[in-house]
Amino acid sequence: MKALCWYGSGDVRVDSVPDPVIEDPKDAIVQITSTAICGSDLHLYDGYMPTMEKGDVLGHENMGRVVEVGSEIKNLKPGDRVVVPFNISCGECFFCRNELFSLCDRSNPNAEMAKKAMGHSPAGLFGYSHLMGGFSGGQAEYLRVPYADVGPLKLRNDGLPDEMLLFLSDIFPTGYMAAENCQITEGDTVAVWGCGPVGQFAIKSARMMGAGRVLAIDNVPERLELACSNDLCETINFDEQDVHECLMELTGGRGPDSCIDAVGCEAHAGGTLDGTLDVIKTSTFLATDRPHVLRQAIMACRKGGTVSIPGVYIGFGDNIPIGAAMNKGLTIKQGKTHTHKYMRPLLEKIERGDIDPSFVVTHEMPLDDAPEAYEMFKNKEDNCIKVILKP
Ligand code: NAD
Ligand code: ZN
Repeated sequence: MKALCWYGSGDVRVDSVPDPVIEDPKDAIVQITSTAICGSDLHLYDGYMPTMEKGDVLGHENMGRVVEVGSEIKNLKPGDRVVVPFNISCGECFFCRNELFSLCDRSNPNAEMAKKAMGHSPAGLFGYSHLMGGFSGGQAEYLRVPYADVGPLKLRNDGLPDEMLLFLSDIFPTGYMAAENCQITEGDTVAVWGCGPVGQFAIKSARMMGAGRVLAIDNVPERLELACSNDLCETINFDEQDVHECLMELTGGRGPDSCIDAVGCEAHAGGTLDGTLDVIKTSTFLATDRPHVLRQAIMACRKGGTVSIPGVYIGFGDNIPIGAAMNKGLTIKQGKTHTHKYMRPLLEKIERGDIDPSFVVTHEMPLDDAPEAYEMFKNKEDNCIKVILKP
């Protein structure tokens, strides 16, 4: 089959690879109808994520049709239309039973490697390095889905189009959990760093949860504009304005009640000293991450407020102002999304017409053009915000 394979920093290629097969009675094979490129894929594309190997198939935002099921599968049959969550979860361990699906204890076959790096192993992920299980992703014609009775969300065959449903696999639940982690009360002011797809869903979700004001921060005009199309959203362009000063001005010196870091480990410096040092350190292998936004969020957040981190961090954060976080009594909540928990309730919101997730889509392209799509998405060319690939 055709698949998008990783070969190194800035080098992805459409290759011919063996078709996936059922390897375990709890597997299903899904023929992909739509798959998206995520900001998380850029961390692989830019070489930030360790334990990638040449030829690894990328793609963790996937949907399609079931074509084959293992002998123990009860909930799916060939022909079923499904959205597949990006994390792989057994459904039975302590963490899955507590709806902490991204922390599944059983789904990472390389758990020992992850334990050395993190103390414990999180769940396996599709197309996201050997540290996260070495599973092939779905930027391909077919995908092997382990624990297929647990993850995939079954959809009506004659229902809504793919572009309204695909983002249940990751970015809609991710933005939603990021807002939920803010513990928003009616009228709160929420600041969101990053107006990429995750930031956009965090903004919409914060509003659904009762935020009175949303302050959105980025430097990409069309992304700020899209955020602005929410009438309650005020924007800050970090190339033109001092973010901390602006946030203080907009909140009468108190700071936002909650701050969401929807940027993660590859934050741009925006002319700041700490951000510039991050860029120098990561490019000379003296640091793993560029946590400029996290520093800014901790410093700006109001006393007793919440910092929510959906943005991906990989290794160690240099100079995180943990003293400010402690002395201001901040709550910090973070993590990979427990996608399974959110898929059905958010599908219901889409079906009710509360939200149409396709608002972030700017490009739909054939899988063959995936290398160009990665470049375009990374560089924000052609006003690119979110790309759907069609195998
Ligand atoms: P994206 O790369 O499209 O968006 C990131 C945005 O941040 C860009 O618009 C960029 O201009 C902006 N940005 C860069 N530096 C900034 C700064 N200093 N201040 C403000 N904005 C800045 O990516 P995305 O798809 O929206 O994903 C965002 C983050 O969420 C990534 O780190 C991604 O890995 C992560 N993510 C996490 C989960 C999870 O489970 N927690 C799931 C999906 C994505
Ligand atoms: Zn993703």
